[in-house]
Amino acid sequence: MGKVLSVASECVPLVKTGGLADVVGALPGAMAPLGWEMRVLLPAYRALRPHLAKMALVLEEADLFGGRGQVFFGQIEGLELYLLDAPHLYDREGGPYSVAGKDFADNSQRFAALSWVAARMAREGANGWKPGVLHAHDWQAGFAPAYLSYGGAAGVGSLITVHNIAFQGWAAAGQLKELRLPLAEFHSAGLEYYGGLSSLKAALVTAGRITTVSPTYAAELMRPEFGMGLQGVIAARAGVVSGILNGVDAAVWSPEAEPLPYGVKAMRGKAVNRAALCAEFGLDVPGPLAILVSRLTEQKGIDLVTEAIPDFIAGGGGLAVLGSGDPALEGAMLGLAARYRGRVAVRIGYDEALSHRMFAGGDAVLVPSRFEPCGLTQMYGLRYGTLPVVSAVGGLSDTVINASPATMAAGVATGIVFHPVDSLAFGQALRQLLALHGDKGIWTNVQLSAMRHPVGWEASAQAYARIYEDLAQ
Ligand code: ADP
Repeated sequence: MGKVLSVASECVPLVKTGGLADVVGALPGAMAPLGWEMRVLLPAYRALRPHLAKMALVLEEADLFGGRGQVFFGQIEGLELYLLDAPHLYDREGGPYSVAGKDFADNSQRFAALSWVAARMAREGANGWKPGVLHAHDWQAGFAPAYLSYGGAAGVGSLITVHNIAFQGWAAAGQLKELRLPLAEFHSAGLEYYGGLSSLKAALVTAGRITTVSPTYAAELMRPEFGMGLQGVIAARAGVVSGILNGVDAAVWSPEAEPLPYGVKAMRGKAVNRAALCAEFGLDVPGPLAILVSRLTEQKGIDLVTEAIPDFIAGGGGLAVLGSGDPALEGAMLGLAARYRGRVAVRIGYDEALSHRMFAGGDAVLVPSRFEPCGLTQMYGLRYGTLPVVSAVGGLSDTVINASPATMAAGVATGIVFHPVDSLAFGQALRQLLALHGDKGIWTNVQLSAMRHPVGWEASAQAYARIYEDLAQ
């Protein structure tokens, strides 16, 4: 069996702030049937330290950026898991990156430490287990391929996966030595990034392969509108860049697994779920009931919802929102609920169980993102026959097929795709949704083709396996 060490700052079900955690948690299970044993390395944040008692010490670092680091291994929550215990870096109040909305001042060191240990484990192995591939995720693991490359790779291949280019792991140039990076590599083709350092750039110039989470995002990343400063770095390595879609865990996200189950052969349950959802949110909606489950940020195009929704409401539609984020956007959503009582309802917060009920009961899910590396909620929408209304960017383009006369005639339409990403086009898409919903026969056909559209890990796992095979040689 091939061996892969996957290094990240988040992993479902242990610690999650976004889609990254879903992917890191799902990959080991997706790769195992293809002959790849994947172990995950995470920091032992305070909430994870109780697991250490059930794990075995496999590696020690006497001086890990200001204190001792110890790596423990065990089988936790179905994962083959390494935890890096370094209390001076990770045993503290707050989330993985911040406390009370403020980023930790030593995040560069905290994640450089994770990366340092990952590179050492890749190079030397730990307790007799030595990977052939080091798979780093996002900026938090970005220095891992760099340390591996600069310190001698010992036959181990490395891969960086970009889940979101907006987070780049910036550090000041003056930290070079403290972060154990070689001065000789501080130049524009190496570590230097606009006069400072970026752990993500470090990975992009040193990893053997680069992947991102959809084919369209892979192409977008080479353009200034989406590359966020790194477009040139990525374009220069175009030959080793690929886009591999994330999958959805079909056991967790399945209408058959909901308390009121339904499926392609028996759609009646969906109407029961819809009625329950309307009751829970205090809604009475004659037309399509749209849902929005999202971080409430500019990236997600939430401001477009405010602008486009009045016409949709006037046409008979309704909206249920679950999310949190930017206080101004939270306020805007609450404002809509106050203005359109009975038609728009909003829950501010994070609630996984409620999100399931929303996908099970909604008619459509809105995803008007300005950029979207892959996106998961449109795929949940497909699974549940909750038709996705998405902007034509990134993974949204790759997963939803717009309902046009041609695609509907061919029986392959799965949702509504709009472009450009502005309120005019979004408003037009919502009018299209009203029209589609008004024709029950067509609506049901599109729902059924959405539910049949494959969104699992199978194809993507094979694409990762091909890359691992190349790297492990
Ligand atoms: P991103 O990682 O950019 O936030 P994704 O669509 O890739 O976007 O993943 C977001 C994940 O977080 C999905 O699983 C989505 O259902 C979930 N999610 C987002 N906001 C909430 C919320 N308020 N309550 C429950 N789940 C949420």
